[in-house]
Amino acid sequence: MTRRELLETIGKAAGSSVVLAPLVRTVFAIPDAMAAGAAPLNGVAGVDRIAMLRGRTYLNGWAGYGDPPRRQPPRRGEPGPPQLPEPPGPPPTVTWSKQSGPGAVTFADPRAPVTTATFSAPGAYVLKLTVANGQTTVSSQLNVTVELPPPAGHLDPVATKPYEIDSRLWNSRAKALIVNWIPHCIDQINRTDLTQGPGGIDNFIEAAKALAGQPHGNHKGYVFSNAWVHQTVEAMSIALMIDPKGDAEIIAAQAKMKATLDDWIPKILAAQEPDGYLQTAFTLDRPPRRDSTTGREIPVESSKFKHWDPPHRGDHEGYTAGYFLESAINHYTMTGGKDARLYNAAKKLADCWYDHIGPAPKQEWFDGHQEMEQALVRFGRFVNETEGNGKGQKYIQLAKFLFDCRKGGTEYDQSHLPVVQQYEAVGHAVRAVYTYSGMTDIAIETGDSDYQAAARSLWDSIVNRKYYVTGGVGSGESSEGFGPDYSLRNRAYCESCSSCGEIFFQWKMNLLYRDAKYADLYEETLYNGLLGSLDHEGRNFYYDNPLDANVPRYPWHSCPCCVGNISRTLLMLPTWMYARSADGIYVNLFIGSTVTVENVAGTDVQLVQATDYPWNGKVSITVNPKTSKRFAIRIRVPNRNVSALYKGTPESGGIASVAVNGSVMKPAIEHGYAVIARTWKAGDRIDFTLPLQVQRVRANEKIAADKGRVALRYGPLVYNIEQVDQDIAKALGPSSALRAEWNANLLGGVMVIRGTFADGSPLMAIPNHARYNRNPPLPPPPPAPAPTAGTPPGGGRAARPAPPPPTSIVWIREA
Ligand SMILES: [Zn+2]
Repeated sequence: MTRRELLETIGKAAGSSVVLAPLVRTVFAIPDAMAAGAAPLNGVAGVDRIAMLRGRTYLNGWAGYGDPPRRQPPRRGEPGPPQLPEPPGPPPTVTWSKQSGPGAVTFADPRAPVTTATFSAPGAYVLKLTVANGQTTVSSQLNVTVELPPPAGHLDPVATKPYEIDSRLWNSRAKALIVNWIPHCIDQINRTDLTQGPGGIDNFIEAAKALAGQPHGNHKGYVFSNAWVHQTVEAMSIALMIDPKGDAEIIAAQAKMKATLDDWIPKILAAQEPDGYLQTAFTLDRPPRRDSTTGREIPVESSKFKHWDPPHRGDHEGYTAGYFLESAINHYTMTGGKDARLYNAAKKLADCWYDHIGPAPKQEWFDGHQEMEQALVRFGRFVNETEGNGKGQKYIQLAKFLFDCRKGGTEYDQSHLPVVQQYEAVGHAVRAVYTYSGMTDIAIETGDSDYQAAARSLWDSIVNRKYYVTGGVGSGESSEGFGPDYSLRNRAYCESCSSCGEIFFQWKMNLLYRDAKYADLYEETLYNGLLGSLDHEGRNFYYDNPLDANVPRYPWHSCPCCVGNISRTLLMLPTWMYARSADGIYVNLFIGSTVTVENVAGTDVQLVQATDYPWNGKVSITVNPKTSKRFAIRIRVPNRNVSALYKGTPESGGIASVAVNGSVMKPAIEHGYAVIARTWKAGDRIDFTLPLQVQRVRANEKIAADKGRVALRYGPLVYNIEQVDQDIAKALGPSSALRAEWNANLLGGVMVIRGTFADGSPLMAIPNHARYNRNPPLPPPPPAPAPTAGTPPGGGRAARPAPPPPTSIVWIREA
């Protein structure tokens, strides 16, 4: 029997053509072992996962000889999948059964490796996959945790609108972004002579000429270079909503942003094709380039690419389109709806996609780099709000359709399985978290239990097995992506964009579950993984954020995908701080600020937070409803130990001394929130304290990289020790005292942690986000090689020199 006949026989036996899927995958892995005839019979039941009660879990069991495959994208110049070899033994049979668990398990087909199971009661189950070939029997287990579905009635996002920051930490961070970083991005995007990370507004200018039938230049830079233009438009729009409070430098920077928007918007709109399509790499010819493997020159590529054509999946049509939709939302909001140019153009673009992509007779499509899906949901919600319910629903449906088309590809871009059958975070980390963030949107908008189960499982896979203590993700062991469970080397990748995506994902899980633990997590990522991507002055950034840091930040990168993403995400504070339910307001972050949450129990509520958090745990919130109304305010009670991977001691979380208008009270705690429900009138005040103290954090023993090491934490802030202050190879004694100490003269004012190493010498740690601000800058990096169309972000990596040893570290040796 040939391999193909074997597959078909098993397929027929299982009564389903889909059974072929996992076995076809064997072609990627087995040949060598099988050719040797040495591969033993094997069965793999799959990775741990979460299922919803009354929903189903997809079982993608694998039976065969040797190791199961993982589909990776074929490398350029390598041959495709090998021919199917003959199997060394008789075809295996498979049987699914329940080994343990509190309820009944129903398998759609217990004899098929690929099937589904449903569960009658919540709890922990162990399923067993038994594989036999008449001579040998092997089995493999699968843990399934069955949960109740998310509660009915998700939270509504609070849009970022004009607001005021009044916080020692955030005033200086926001000012660095507004006065230095965003203006620097504007200047870089306006340049036409960039050799590193080129392709800015010039691509739009040339595309407009092409559309007008005039002589024009080729496309510059990566195919996705429109992305940072759109992100910077969004970042400027948000920055213009921040009250400058009379600061002359902020006022001048905001004037520059207004002038830039006046200059750029007509240029961007002129590059939009008549049917609404917008992606300058498809409107312009692409320049000649060199194949990175063969060195062969690839001639000019014609711009006559078909849109949404599978050979061009990697060309980021949805990635750039999504950022354009998102930029239009904040621009329209910033202008108070008075300037609808970008909004209307975004609708035209979304309509162009909607008109072409969808169930037959429209076409199927998925983009190699996810972003359009979450942007379409955000845009659909915004259109619903702006034009009335129902008008934006088609964009949300389109987002789900794009996800449902994802299959038949590789783990790199999360198309190896239908998304609802994915339970393990794999592949490129930015693409992954953008997927999971968008899937959570779909779970929120549709209540689809397949999406709920997959989103919760992927969350569990990241947070409990693939998550850094800084809130970063992506060890870089797969291309810019995730490694295996617990494989968390400290020379991590942790791209800044994946921190943005991780915040989006956790934030949406918070909206879906109304549970504070998700906000605990995005607070970690915000204050460490993301905030540390920029230097103190806002003049340089990190593309990747390893916990073992060894190079200073740089002003630009051969792949500038993060440059606008960092600023738009960091400045959208009101959205991360508050959420709205039918019966009140959720307070998720503690930042000195004045923010108005609209439409709470029929009124608008201004919230004035006065706090020096995260340096100090005292918080006071003045509640100013436009008219007195009864509603609940739920205040997040921090839990610093959400991830099972890390444990901080002593405990440092919770909430203390809660008082309303000076009267001490004991609020009920629900899902991690202290609930205060009453009739609120203007001027009512809530005071409380969030206990902060220095913690020693130890990692799960399965994380080899952190064995015998300890991290320091104060509130949400993870700390680094730096070679510039001490010998970072020294060990910390297990019981040496550690204290937090305010240092007004260091890094613009930071809380440092002081203690002593085991040898008695002093230790000083600074916040992770403030790392690498006191080291002499390196000379600018050499120009990157010419970018290649379709190359993923980070294409400049190969050109980097061997890394020097770390000089700023999170995990300290413990004596
Ligand atoms: Zn990036």
